[in-house]
Amino acid sequence: MTPEYDLKATVRTIQDYPKPGIMFRDITTLLGDARAFRRAVDELVQPWAGSKIDKVAGIEARGFILGGALAHQVSAGFVPIRKRGKLPHATVRIAYSLEYGLDEMEMHADAIHPGERVILVDDLIATGGTAEGAVKLMRQIGANVVAACFIIDLPDLGGAAKLRAMDVPVRTLMAFDGH
Ligand code: AMP
Repeated sequence: MTPEYDLKATVRTIQDYPKPGIMFRDITTLLGDARAFRRAVDELVQPWAGSKIDKVAGIEARGFILGGALAHQVSAGFVPIRKRGKLPHATVRIAYSLEYGLDEMEMHADAIHPGERVILVDDLIATGGTAEGAVKLMRQIGANVVAACFIIDLPDLGGAAKLRAMDVPVRTLMAFDGH
């Protein structure tokens, strides 16, 4: 991969989606570019390439696409974190804050064993409400969350700082100003 390769240029920005004032950072264009997809996966897990990772946990839905590839890359299992009501077996659940109000996310209670080393992944971190909920959910069942990885950081919204304050190392590959 050439050093000048511009990963950021493969992310498409759509203004005023899903509502006025939002700059939607669309990663489908990155995923559809073979070089960009491979590079993003390689770079996200690069700091943990030599260490033992038991599970990669992905947040529905874009975190599933990245999480499957990351899990394969580090020879770990994959764990889906889903919206309430989607998982068939016994779950643990947590409420988390969205821009307007609350939502709930779940994972299978037996998906991660106490002490297992887990990397969390999603496409983007904004306010950090979603990722914070996922970290708390995994810690409830004894997971050792060794890192959280996101392709995109919106640093003005403070999510990455929030996770670091929870002692979760955060890796992001690019940042956009504003929200
Ligand atoms: P937050 O909980 O505020 O960190 O929001 C993160 C979640 O919302 C992620 O799952 C993102 O996919 C999605 N998200 C938030 N803001 C944007 C944005 N500007 N563009 C695309 N996705 C976003």
